[in-house]
Amino acid sequence: MGIVSTAERIDARTDPAEPVETGLLTVDLGALAGNWRKLASRAPGAECGAVVKADGYGLGQAAVMRALARAGCETFFVANLLEGETARALAPHADVYVFDGVAPGCGPRLAAAGLRPCIGSAAELAEWTALGAALGRRLEAAIHFDTGMNRLGFAPADASAVAEAAVGIEPTLIMSHFLSAQLPDAPVNARQIADFLAARAHFPGVAASMAASSGVFLPQRPHFDLLRPGYALYGGNPTPGAENPMTPVVSLSARIISLRALGVGETVGYDGVWAATRPTRAATIGAGYADGLPISATAAPGKAAGEAVVGGRRCAFIGRVSMDYIVLDVTEAPEARRGDWVELLGATIDIEELAGRARTIGYEVLTRLGRRYARRYVGG
Ligand SMILES: *Cc1c(COP(=O)(O)O)cnc(C)c1O
Repeated sequence: MGIVSTAERIDARTDPAEPVETGLLTVDLGALAGNWRKLASRAPGAECGAVVKADGYGLGQAAVMRALARAGCETFFVANLLEGETARALAPHADVYVFDGVAPGCGPRLAAAGLRPCIGSAAELAEWTALGAALGRRLEAAIHFDTGMNRLGFAPADASAVAEAAVGIEPTLIMSHFLSAQLPDAPVNARQIADFLAARAHFPGVAASMAASSGVFLPQRPHFDLLRPGYALYGGNPTPGAENPMTPVVSLSARIISLRALGVGETVGYDGVWAATRPTRAATIGAGYADGLPISATAAPGKAAGEAVVGGRRCAFIGRVSMDYIVLDVTEAPEARRGDWVELLGATIDIEELAGRARTIGYEVLTRLGRRYARRYVGG
């Protein structure tokens, strides 16, 4: 056989409309809006907001916010000042809450952008009160109670003192955060709800929010006045262990850029951690850990490797995931050709599956999606 094999055809079946990038991330904004409506419909008496921190969980804050605003979302949550300023520019009239609260050095810009910090300490409360006094008004903010995360927020036992100290600001929301909402039977959920109810009693007439994605599905229905889902909007499963009630939003494919035949005993990739035990056809795709595909998706003793779908068949990652490339065993997909696109996330492999094969969680997979992909927004 010559050096050009059938698998390495110079005709790579390339369509000029296809991206030149070797990875393609498709975000279905119609599915995103549908997920928002679905979550909203689970709590008819409550408003449904949206958490768009970390660049809209990696999918693009601008596209995500525009789609959700079009669907009717009027309240957004972000983690920090800079995300809040971006949100304010994208949605001039929306309510925008900042989970960090009044982070050191951020107060004046939070106020200037009309953002609502989620205040969780006496120092933040004093700073926000003083800023408001200097501006001649009571600034709006959420009051965050920590019912168990031990991360951010006032102790519920201090609620009465916090209510007294909050006279110099305008509380628009009382909030708390579940630590195990994905476990519907965890006794801590009911304990957190009870502590939150006790704290909230000191703020009559102020809206309340406890439920992130999984909280929406808890049997206690702790929906209060405002839901604040993130993960489920983006297609993540808020009810792990049960069927995913959400519609997938993200699909990710990568291109085969090279193929080769390996004999028994030949290894693939750094340190030769994988060796062929049969004659193997191997395909190299142009995506790796720099694109957010975890190196931990490499096969290890007792742990299956990541997989890609090649022409309808699942093909395992072989060798170590490297920065720019992953090699697939395509022996069982003989029609695989240079230029073909393979599925890494999509109809067959969901976020949870890739995360499980990489010993991480879907949230991390989403928020680490790389910046080198061609990005396509559809259904907008
Ligand atoms: C990130 C976050 C959310 C959203 O959580 P999901 O599980 O993604 O729905 C809600 N509230 C707070 C305080 C958060 O930090």
